[in-house]
Amino acid sequence: MRNHPTAVGFAQPPSQPCATIVLRLAAGGAGGPDGRTGGRGENRVIELSVPDFGSLALEHLVLDFNGTLAEDGALLPGVREALGALSQRLQLHVVTGDTFGRARQELAGIACELVILEAAGQAEAKARTVDRLGPRRTACIGNGRNDRLMLASAALGVAVLQKEGASAECLAAADVVCRTIVEALELLVEPLRLVATLRG
Ligand SMILES: [Mg+2]
Repeated sequence: MRNHPTAVGFAQPPSQPCATIVLRLAAGGAGGPDGRTGGRGENRVIELSVPDFGSLALEHLVLDFNGTLAEDGALLPGVREALGALSQRLQLHVVTGDTFGRARQELAGIACELVILEAAGQAEAKARTVDRLGPRRTACIGNGRNDRLMLASAALGVAVLQKEGASAECLAAADVVCRTIVEALELLVEPLRLVATLRG
């Protein structure tokens, strides 16, 4: 997944024009288009075994932007720091319709892949991102109705409430519901909390 060119379109049926844009943002710098998330050959994974739920070996985290990482287009407090730390443990992917047009500048300096989606079919496009990465090794965090499919297909789906609230269908598709994005991200670095919530 590290070899994506700066901007590519995903394969879609020929009758549908593809407007999806994929940008790779680098850690620490200005978020240049040629950045890398880290050295090749890294084996970043978060593993945990949850009784009566299953074993998780997570390599990717797919995140919605507005309502999840950001409010009114701006990153919520604590998100930059939390994502910076988590990018050492997982490969981060942000999938968004980018309603406010600010995702790239807000995420600059955070090692992640930014996928900007066209307006139509966002739920399916987000789910395709998870399919591309491998649902069994992917966790997702989102709040909107268009996050429901990716949360349902990923090994771990987390819904967040925050000020924007969460769609009922998104909540129904989630394995865990958190109040805030920072608390949701903390679950991944304190996996015993996840075990306590998901077991049996
Ligand atoms: Mg959202």
